[in-house]
Amino acid sequence: MIILVINSGSSSIKYQLFNMEEEIVVAKGGIQRIGIANSFLEHETHEGKETRIDQDIPDHAAGIRLMMDVLLDEEYGVINDIDEIDAVGHRVLHGGEKFTESIIIDEEVVKTIEEYCDLGPLHNPHNLTGIRVCKKLMPDKPQVAVFDTSFHTTMPEKAYLYALPYEYYEKYKVKRYGFHGTSHRYVSRRCAQLMNRPYEELKIISCHLGNGASIAAVANGKCVDTSMGLTPLEGLVMGTRCGDIDPAIIKFIMEKEGLTIEEMDKIMNKKSGLLGISGISNDSRDVSEAAKNGNYRAKLALELFDYRIVKYIGAYMAAMGGVDAIVFTAGIGENQFETRANIIEQLGFLGIKLDPEANKVRGEEKEISTADSTVKVFVIPTNEELMIARDTLALI
Ligand code: ADP
Repeated sequence: MIILVINSGSSSIKYQLFNMEEEIVVAKGGIQRIGIANSFLEHETHEGKETRIDQDIPDHAAGIRLMMDVLLDEEYGVINDIDEIDAVGHRVLHGGEKFTESIIIDEEVVKTIEEYCDLGPLHNPHNLTGIRVCKKLMPDKPQVAVFDTSFHTTMPEKAYLYALPYEYYEKYKVKRYGFHGTSHRYVSRRCAQLMNRPYEELKIISCHLGNGASIAAVANGKCVDTSMGLTPLEGLVMGTRCGDIDPAIIKFIMEKEGLTIEEMDKIMNKKSGLLGISGISNDSRDVSEAAKNGNYRAKLALELFDYRIVKYIGAYMAAMGGVDAIVFTAGIGENQFETRANIIEQLGFLGIKLDPEANKVRGEEKEISTADSTVKVFVIPTNEELMIARDTLALI
């Protein structure tokens, strides 16, 4: 069974081609800068053959056609015919309240994803473009949508409702949806496997710390709370997003600075977080480097980042009445051991202890807590693409 996984963004498309018999990625790559100058495709095969094609890629259709050419290429290709692809799995950001699970895409599903474009305006339209182009190229092959929000649809009302007039929930479905669901689902399930215990019996806190960052509380195999909200802006301090703030700040700064709603929105989404506090970068590596060189604001940015996570872990332990395991994943969670050490140290009063030697790990699955730690702590590299491929296989 050969499954193509597509993540179609505003100016990029990432792809992975899976052979599901062995669950291996036979080829993967990305198309960048679609519709802008200097567009290119990067591609590598399981055997380690790599290529880069620099050419004008005016739109997503051209990008996906180019991807197909490379997949069929004599030298860098991995299939002989497009027909060898059995199905396509698409990452879709927003599945609203309706999509509680992954689903085979038909006209009705497309229509609903379209309706949710106002909830996910930066992603859903581009996810849809990917779906439409693939449907055209492979009309007979099943296409599956895997939503970032589905995993969180098990949250109880008390966790997903905002304390705004109820009519906004009724009229506009204003509620906490949460994101990174495929990642939280993958690492929390994997955590249960590594612990050799039933997923349904565990309380797990999953920390997805990348440029975008969120935490999920998973109790008895179900998400019961998560830090992102109606949009990915809420919750943790992120690369460029502010996360939780007093909502009254928005009006206050807009009035002081004479800003429009769009400008304020951009400040909170693109100019805040690690970048906003440090004034240096949204990339935690640059911020860490500056902090090590004594830059005060860089140090402060990292402190804020870690402190917010500590608070959320504390809150989710209270929400679940305890925790069996904490998992770190994504760029920062998998690689920045100082961040992990600093967070767990602040939770030391609960008897949670890291093994400093084990914590040196980068990008590998590992238990990093000591044998006598009251809570197990793991690094588990996320694999959203594999999860999408597995869902696609299960549905077809
Ligand atoms: P995205 O949310 O864009 O998918 P990633 O999960 O790739 O982001 O995470 C990006 C963040 O992870 C950046 O802050 C980056 O500094 C950090 N990161 C990625 N790789 C490493 C690494 N090898 N060492 C330290 N930090 C890393």
